[in-house]
Amino acid sequence: MSKALTIAKFGGTSVANYEVMQNCARIVISNTSTRIVVVSAAAGVTNHLVQLAHTPLTQQQIEEICAAVTKIELAILDKLPNALSVQPKLDDLLSELRSLAFHEEILKRADLKDQLLSLGERMSSLLFTEVLLEQGEHALNFDVRKVLRTDSEFGEATPNIEKIAEQADAYLRPELAKAIIVTQGFIGSDEQGRTTTLGRGGSDFTAALLAEGLDAQVCEIWTDVNGVFTTDPRITAAAKPLPELSFEEAAEMATFGAKVLHPATMEPALRKNVRVFVGSSTEPEKGGTWLVRDCKHEPPFRAITRRKEQVMVTVKTPKMMYAQGFLQQVFSIIAKHRLSVDLVTTSEIAVSFTLDNPANSVAHRLNKETIAELETICEVKVEDGFDLVTVVGNHMHSAKGVSSRIFAAIAEYNLRMICFGANPHNISFLVNEKDSSEIVRVLHQALFEVS
Ligand code: ADP
Ligand code: ASP
Ligand code: MG
Repeated sequence: MSKALTIAKFGGTSVANYEVMQNCARIVISNTSTRIVVVSAAAGVTNHLVQLAHTPLTQQQIEEICAAVTKIELAILDKLPNALSVQPKLDDLLSELRSLAFHEEILKRADLKDQLLSLGERMSSLLFTEVLLEQGEHALNFDVRKVLRTDSEFGEATPNIEKIAEQADAYLRPELAKAIIVTQGFIGSDEQGRTTTLGRGGSDFTAALLAEGLDAQVCEIWTDVNGVFTTDPRITAAAKPLPELSFEEAAEMATFGAKVLHPATMEPALRKNVRVFVGSSTEPEKGGTWLVRDCKHEPPFRAITRRKEQVMVTVKTPKMMYAQGFLQQVFSIIAKHRLSVDLVTTSEIAVSFTLDNPANSVAHRLNKETIAELETICEVKVEDGFDLVTVVGNHMHSAKGVSSRIFAAIAEYNLRMICFGANPHNISFLVNEKDSSEIVRVLHQALFEVS
C-alpha cells in the first residue's frame, strides 16, 4: 500500500439504494489510496428519524415512519447476495429503532434523540460494507464512535480534535493495512460513551475530521452534483461548476447556505492542508471542484448562496439612548445560548439581527429560549418569512464597483437588511422568502452570465 491516504465520503443520495451504492463501490475500488469510506444515512432516512425524535406522533404514525425506514433498508439488503447472513445485524438495528421511536422519553431526552438519529448511518455503513465485500474487496464496518469523540452537546456536538487524533491512531490506523474501512458520518460519542451527532449534514465534517486525525492527503466528498457551483443548481440551470475554490470561499459559501458542504468541513482541512474534492458519485468522470488553500484566481464574485428559514429579531428599549451596555447585555444573552448572528443593524433605540431558524433544529429550540430571556430586559419583535442571500467572493471591500453591480441588479426588490461581511468574502442581504429564488437568478445572470 502506498503511503497516500484518501478518505471518500458518500452522501445520502449516493447510498440511497443498492444500484447507486454500486457506483460508490466503483469509485472506492478504482483508487487504491482510498482506505476509509464515510457514509451518510440513505436519502430520506435521517428526515424520518428527526420526525420520530422531535414531533409528537400517534402510535400509528410512529409505526408508519418505522415502516418507511425499514422499507428503504430492506430494499438494499434484499439485493445483497449475502442477505441472509447480514439480516440479523440489520434486524438488531431495526429493533433498536423501534424501541427508541416508541420510548416514552424520546421527545424529552436529547441523548435518546441522538441515539435514534445515529441509526441511519449505522445501517447504511453495515450495508455498504457488504457491497464492497461482494466485489471481492476486504472491507470492514468500523464504529466511528470509538474515534470521533465529542462534547456532550447532543444534536450539535463539538469534536475534540486531540482526542480524535489519539483515538484514530490507536484504533483506526492499525486497520488501514488490513481492509477498506467503512464507517459512519455524522455521529460520535461523548466522554461517557453516549452517542452524539454533529448537526444536519455533518458527514462531510466527519470525513474531514478523520482526514485530519489520520493525516490523509485527500478528502473526497461524493454527492449528487459534480462539484460546488456558482449557485445551487436547483435554483437556476445556469449555475456552473467551479473547478477550484479556496477553503475560505468554500467555508463562506457553506456558512451562508450552500448545502453541498457542511460549514465546518473546511476547518480540519485548512489546519492540515488536506485537499478536498467535491464530485458526483453518478458521474465521477465529469470531474468536480478542488478546494485548496490558495487559489490562482481570486475573482470578486465567486458564487451566490441562499440560506432559508431566517427570522429577524428586533430588540427595543426606549432607554437604550441612555443605557450604555444594552448591546452588551443583548449579545451576552445570545452568546450564552451559543447562537451566531450574521446580520446586525442598530439605531438609537433598536437593534435588529437575524437568526437561523430551521424547524426541528437545535437552533430553533435555542432561539425560543434566547427570545424568552431577551423579553425579560426589553421589547422583542420576531418576524419570519425571510431568506438570506449572500454573494461570496474576494476583496469585496476594496474592489471597485462591487456593490453597484450587485445593487443595480436587484434594485427592484425589497431588501430588509444589508450587511458587508466582517471579512472581505461576502455581502449578504435579508429578503422576503417569496422573492429569494428570483433574486438569486437575477443576480446570477448579472454577475456570472454576462461578460
Ligand atoms: P449529500 O446528501 O451528498 O451530502 P446534500 O444534499 O447535502 O448532499 O448537498 C448536495 C446539494 O447541495 C445539491 O443537490 C444542491 O442542490 C445543493 N447545493 C446548494 N448550493 C450548492 C452549490 N453552490 N453548489 C452545488 N450544490 C449546491
Ligand atoms: N444523515 C445526516 C443528515 O441527513 C448527515 C449527513 O447526511 O451528512 O443530516
Ligand atoms: Mg450533505
